[in-house]
Amino acid sequence: MKAWVLHDIGDIRFEDVDKPKPGQGEVLVRVRAAGICGSDIPRTFDTGSHKMPLILGHEFAGSVEEVGEGVDPAWVGARVGVFPLIPCRNCSQCLKGRYELCRDYDYLGSRSNGAFAEYVTLPEKNLIMLPDNVSFEEAAMLEPMAVAVHAIRGIMHEDDDKDLRIAVYGLGTIGMFVTMFLKAAGFNNLILLGNKQKQKETILSMGIPESCYYDGSDDNAIIQISGAGGADVVFECVGKSQTFASAIDITSPMGRVILMGNPYSDMTLPRDIYWKILRNQLTVTGTWNSSFTGKADDDWHYVLDHLASGIDGADSIISHRFKLEDLRDGLDIMHEKREEYGKIMIG
Ligand SMILES: [Zn+2]
Ligand SMILES: [Zn+2]
Repeated sequence: MKAWVLHDIGDIRFEDVDKPKPGQGEVLVRVRAAGICGSDIPRTFDTGSHKMPLILGHEFAGSVEEVGEGVDPAWVGARVGVFPLIPCRNCSQCLKGRYELCRDYDYLGSRSNGAFAEYVTLPEKNLIMLPDNVSFEEAAMLEPMAVAVHAIRGIMHEDDDKDLRIAVYGLGTIGMFVTMFLKAAGFNNLILLGNKQKQKETILSMGIPESCYYDGSDDNAIIQISGAGGADVVFECVGKSQTFASAIDITSPMGRVILMGNPYSDMTLPRDIYWKILRNQLTVTGTWNSSFTGKADDDWHYVLDHLASGIDGADSIISHRFKLEDLRDGLDIMHEKREEYGKIMIG
């Protein structure tokens, strides 16, 4: 089969490799759509993956082509989404069903071969069946959508007023999905902080008024938001010291801040901002990955239910589409930032 293999940092090649065989408890999935994640860029160009050579790609969907020993043959032909984290199912967190906190996990596309290939093998337990009206492209975004939903479910309370002022700081893929699911949940009092024209257009195409959009890199915008009372809940989806500080700065007293952005470097806070956490009695919390238990109440089912019932906006987040052989073009666009992009889809 054809696959993109990362041999070393910056050395990724499109080549012929052996088609994998599903082992005990595994299935062979034909990849039909795969997204490039922001994390694939440093993995390819700066840090490498945990193991090399390796096929990257962890956001994907496809159809089951073959099953290994001990797997129900009824899966063959099924359209599926895939939870990319393979938990040990043995550690204290796994035994509680918190697989996203597993201490000894494997991961498709960073620790074992992923989806920038024609085929990939993975455990049957990592599959989720797709409803007919959910496309492969939408399903390839289940993972980042579930990450967004995990954060929302972690920070929002059942009895939260729909008028709550909610800020989303950073409108990359995850911030966009946070916005999309907040809107779907009926929260319309949104403060959306981006830094690209394309992000503003995506927001407008979701039917969100232009007045909700702010340039997050503009100090005046921060002053304006704070002056108007700030936000009750803030999602920090960037991961830089400056946006971390601004996120706290715009949070109103007794407000909540949830940190989602993978940090670019060490995170530091000015003292007066740190004081605000204390004096305003803020709740600052973190979130990681998403819950995938196979039960109807996990994050992945929540996302799939919304997609099946026609949630708006998922398509508008896709900015580019490339064939598998042209993956490198997508990686380069994100690495060199030579044009604005949303989600870049391969398939
Ligand atoms: Zn990812
Ligand atoms: Zn575990």
